Amino acid sequence: MKVLVWNENRHEKIEPKVTEIYPGGLHGYIAGILRTDDIEVKTATLDDENCGINEDVLKETDVLIWWGHMCHGEVPDEVVDLVQKYVLEGMGLILLHSAHHSKIFKRLMGTTCNLKWRDRARERVWTIKPNHPIAQGVDETFVIDPEEMYGEPFDIPNPDEIIFMGWFNGGEVFRSGCTWTRGHGKIFYFQPGHETNRAFHNKNVQTIIKNAVRWACPLKKNIEIPCPNPEPLENV
Ligand code: ZN
Repeated sequence: MKVLVWNENRHEKIEPKVTEIYPGGLHGYIAGILRTDDIEVKTATLDDENCGINEDVLKETDVLIWWGHMCHGEVPDEVVDLVQKYVLEGMGLILLHSAHHSKIFKRLMGTTCNLKWRDRARERVWTIKPNHPIAQGVDETFVIDPEEMYGEPFDIPNPDEIIFMGWFNGGEVFRSGCTWTRGHGKIFYFQPGHETNRAFHNKNVQTIIKNAVRWACPLKKNIEIPCPNPEPLENV
């Protein structure tokens, strides 16, 4: 399985706290969680040539993980077009935390993806679909403290599945782990992961990301989606 971890990598350049918590940047840290015998992990960042994304890279990617926050607008539309094409043809896509406002997520959802937010809160995550592949080995409930509060209403189309729900100590609730399919591609959005908190150090969060990569990995990718006008097979 081949995974590409894409990270904006800008907070890391201006806030020492971020690299203190995530040595090697968020991309480096998340790649380290995933790197095992049967998973080949590469990373790419916004400041790489063409954001580190082109046809050759995506052809070799089964699952793309996306973390972005303050520079979503700097991702060229051509890159978004390309990622969308590969998702529709089967590539898995996992969007973490503030990737809810990434161009690619908004493109695939077709909505604003707006939500409520507030810095620093205590979050209790609930696993509400324990039989789902992404929830295997994950506790029924666990706490992330601190985490940024993301609250409903979350302007997304109805998910195929809601696997995790978040509750925050301000009283807000959030659909923290949701799936969709677009074309042949599987998509998972997961809310924890603010850059100055330690959510990716949490064992449950790590298990969820590892499970999500396996769940989103296509059996077959680069499946063209044609629009044919065939002759009938039967003449009855
Ligand atoms: Zn955040």
